[in-house]
Amino acid sequence: MTEVFKGNFTQQEPLPQAAIDAAMAVLNHGRLHRYNEADGEIAQAAALETEFAALMGAKYCLGVASGGFALATALRALGVKPGDKVLTNAFTLAPVPGSIAAVGAIPIFVGVTEDLVIDLDDLAAKAEQADVLMLSHMRGHIVDMDRLMALAADHGLQVVEDCAHTMGAKWGDTWSGRFGAIGCYSTQTYKHVNSGEGGLLITDDEDLMAKATMLSGSYMLYGKHRAGARVEAFEDVRLGTPNISGRMDNLRASILRPQLANLAVQCERWNKRYDVVDGGLADTPGLTLIDRPAQEHFVASSHQFLLLDWSDDAIRAVVDRCLARGVELKWFGAPDPVGFTSRYSSWTYAPSDPMPASDRVLRAVMDMRLPLTFSLEDCAQIARIIRSEVAAVFQSQ
Ligand SMILES: *Cc1c(COP(=O)(O)O)cnc(C)c1O
Repeated sequence: MTEVFKGNFTQQEPLPQAAIDAAMAVLNHGRLHRYNEADGEIAQAAALETEFAALMGAKYCLGVASGGFALATALRALGVKPGDKVLTNAFTLAPVPGSIAAVGAIPIFVGVTEDLVIDLDDLAAKAEQADVLMLSHMRGHIVDMDRLMALAADHGLQVVEDCAHTMGAKWGDTWSGRFGAIGCYSTQTYKHVNSGEGGLLITDDEDLMAKATMLSGSYMLYGKHRAGARVEAFEDVRLGTPNISGRMDNLRASILRPQLANLAVQCERWNKRYDVVDGGLADTPGLTLIDRPAQEHFVASSHQFLLLDWSDDAIRAVVDRCLARGVELKWFGAPDPVGFTSRYSSWTYAPSDPMPASDRVLRAVMDMRLPLTFSLEDCAQIARIIRSEVAAVFQSQ
């Protein structure tokens, strides 16, 4: 059987009609800048912030220009200075160490386990080197947050959560993004809501929110924020905080609002696709699926599995044979990063001591997007193709 998959792994769904209508309204009135409001009007950006704060049960929310900008803003608001060290995941994507480098700080990479989450033993060993942990819930895999937060408290670590892959996910009863001092989200096209570019930042700390708002480029218009700090909270920060423009605009906010309202439905659709792929790959010899604990209520817009201890040649053969049948697997272990893949050793601006146990895992990670344009039958077919090609290469090893 040589079925070939015809779908496109980077094709997202069109935006809902409500988003298109909302965008047209903004285009028609022309007030795209978030502080450009007609009399009595609530700007789309301010409304988006109110709605996301309510959805997450956060006191404050700030819309910004990208997820990476949200992360760097979080670090600046927490007072991270050039030369400071910031702990972060070895298994993450380039904007995460990039945001640390953006503030002149130095990433200290913490290892990854076979469950694709941060290695808490390695974190404990390195915790004294930094005051801040930038925790990336990479590819939607959520570490035991109860253990992580206890460890952070023991070592006096402030936690920033990178929720680029966990919008709408929970650990236990708590939303991802609500454990740390600040939660950061991306609304870039490949995330859970799509405005091309964009980011959101949430916190319950009024001082952090006032600083983040000034940092985002608020001029002296912070009083227009509706999910922002009280005007009094700006007294001490309004003159001493640099304006590093990276604002959310009303056009993007307008297309995000209807998508947020539908987030739970989309999350369920993603997870159905994940379950079909995961089920279809179960018990494939040589292939390791990722264990997902019962407390982890994830949102799976992608799927990962491991080819642990396979040779480079054998892994390459699987990638090539799957690609020939239309299935695009991204290999995080490739010696040179391709497309969106990357690993800690490829960020040469941030040298790290080698981590052999993490290298073994990273070398094995196979990663695949599951856009909502794929039907459940598409997902079943993808799993059949991977299964047969993995089996073929495994038997010939
Ligand atoms: C996409 C992404 C971000 C933020 O990215 P932007 O492109 O700046 O919005 C942060 N962390 C991870 C893991 C990501 O994939």
